[in-house]
Amino acid sequence: MTETVVSYARSPLEQLEPSRFWHTFSDMNKVVQGPKFVVSEAQGVWLWDDNGDRYLDGTASLWYCNVGHGRAEIADAVHRQLGRLDAYAVYGDFANAPALELSERLASHAPVADPRVILTCGGGEAIDSAAKVARQYWAVRGRPERVHLISRTGGYHGLNGFGTSIIGMDRFRTGYGPLVTDTSVVAHDSIEELEAEILRVGPERVAAFFAEPVIGAGGVYAPGPDYFARVAALCEYYGILFVVDSVICGFARLGNWFGIERWGVRPDMIVFAKGVTSGYLPLGGVIVSGAVAEPFWNEPGHPLHHGTTYAGHPTCCAAALANLDILEREDLFTASREIEVQLDSAVRTLATHPMVREVRSGVGVMAAVELTEEALAAGITTAEIFQESRARGVVLRAVPTALLISPPLVIAWEQIEHLVSTLRASLDAVAQRHVD
Ligand code: PMP
Repeated sequence: MTETVVSYARSPLEQLEPSRFWHTFSDMNKVVQGPKFVVSEAQGVWLWDDNGDRYLDGTASLWYCNVGHGRAEIADAVHRQLGRLDAYAVYGDFANAPALELSERLASHAPVADPRVILTCGGGEAIDSAAKVARQYWAVRGRPERVHLISRTGGYHGLNGFGTSIIGMDRFRTGYGPLVTDTSVVAHDSIEELEAEILRVGPERVAAFFAEPVIGAGGVYAPGPDYFARVAALCEYYGILFVVDSVICGFARLGNWFGIERWGVRPDMIVFAKGVTSGYLPLGGVIVSGAVAEPFWNEPGHPLHHGTTYAGHPTCCAAALANLDILEREDLFTASREIEVQLDSAVRTLATHPMVREVRSGVGVMAAVELTEEALAAGITTAEIFQESRARGVVLRAVPTALLISPPLVIAWEQIEHLVSTLRASLDAVAQRHVD
């Protein structure tokens, strides 16, 4: 008998075919030409690439790593849960302890009346769930014509079917043929425009209004002081469901549980994801008011014909519970309020930089540094500044006209100063390069 020797050793990265992994959201035509930035390790606010070089994570990955990287407590909770019950679906009357516990814990903090919790695998799925709950709610209430969904310019709501259809950034909507119909977008800061749109469509045809507490990916735009109180009043007056997308703003990024508490209003639904697990495992969901859940829960024959295989995944829920333990035990809510002030004071010093048109910060641990039209017209790109800053050891996020900042909520003052001084040096270096 011949013995077969099987080698399970992984190939070194250089030996891998570079053209297999499709980086979504990216221009593969460019990505495939250069070396990849391979993130190998992370701890606290720091990342290491596969050369062993260290970088400050100025964006908490994609706005999500609120408790910082490398928390052994979350890894242990995941390990324990995988050993006990890896996964089991929650259709019918099936349940598991972590999903039940997480739902109760989220409900106990949510500014939503008599809340019910739907769990998903991420934010975009949760947005689609909220949109379908809203439309089906009106259908089972005998108002099937109430389907119209209104959202805001700059609003980002994930890229699933409904999310792509209500997103407030045109570049994400084009190229797919017809999207979900009966949607429209209004200016993010105008109550007058929102009311005019409701009247144009006909209030009796509007199902729901979607808004982020502070617009994130669209460029960090905080609302005016009375904006949300007026939105809530308008929605109530016309009987429209008010859906808050707290995917970025939740879990202490705005110093509280869901962001919207800052404006003292109680929406009909809250969509969450990201910071609920700090990204250690994928999870999202929708917190639905008892009034909206009522026909599904209290009347026979109205199951929500919607759900996904991994909804209520016990191991993802265990990661969330461990993450929430850290948020509460270390009071990252209070820490976040302090970091918000520190980040605001540091990043505002960039407002006088000749390449900077505007700095938006001061509500939550998030900021945008917007370039001047002259700089952009001269061919300077945010991607170039992002590259420069990363080469200098600080990872930021580039959107078309701004650099975005949203560090983990465990960042120290010296690290904020380091982040801002590196961004300043990167702006200077790129400006100099364009002069030379
Ligand atoms: N809503 C908001 C406000 C978001 O920022 C995002 C993700 N950036 C989403 C929804 C979609 O979440 P996911 O990428 O997990 O689908």
